[in-house]
Amino acid sequence: MRMTIAGALTTKADAGQQWADHAHAVIRAAGHRSSAPRSAVVQTLAAQSCVRSAREIGDSLRRDGSEIGIATVYRALELLDELGLVQRLDVGEGSARFEPALPTGEHHHHVVCDRCGQVSQFEDEGLEAAIDRIAERLAYRVGAHDVILRGACPDCVRA
Ligand SMILES: [Zn+2]
Ligand SMILES: [Zn+2]
Repeated sequence: MRMTIAGALTTKADAGQQWADHAHAVIRAAGHRSSAPRSAVVQTLAAQSCVRSAREIGDSLRRDGSEIGIATVYRALELLDELGLVQRLDVGEGSARFEPALPTGEHHHHVVCDRCGQVSQFEDEGLEAAIDRIAERLAYRVGAHDVILRGACPDCVRA
């Protein structure tokens, strides 16, 4: 079992690689092979800092010289989603975007523009504290939370 380095300040690249190692371990533990296309999708996800669609992930793989088809990317993402390894963001019109779900629980939230589809990320300590308080009040063992803000981005407000 892999131990995470407690207290160490990890860079984004380290966090990505830790997630990739964790993802491969979970995939194998669930009885799946770490096939080459699957590994390529995991590596691409590990290198991104926020959500991307299957199409964007496929484009980036092709730019790196890979010949993985979009159907394979979709299947790999479905498996990662089933295994709880990715955070999925549905942006409307059935277009899902994905980012690594870090085993440390570190995360950010998203604000989505309903007009142009732009996605930005934010973190807020006060929000996390409020969610902890609510969980305590409800006496639930809350393991995860989704918070998505929707509206019009600054560009669309001005337009
Ligand atoms: Zn994100
Ligand atoms: Zn949160």
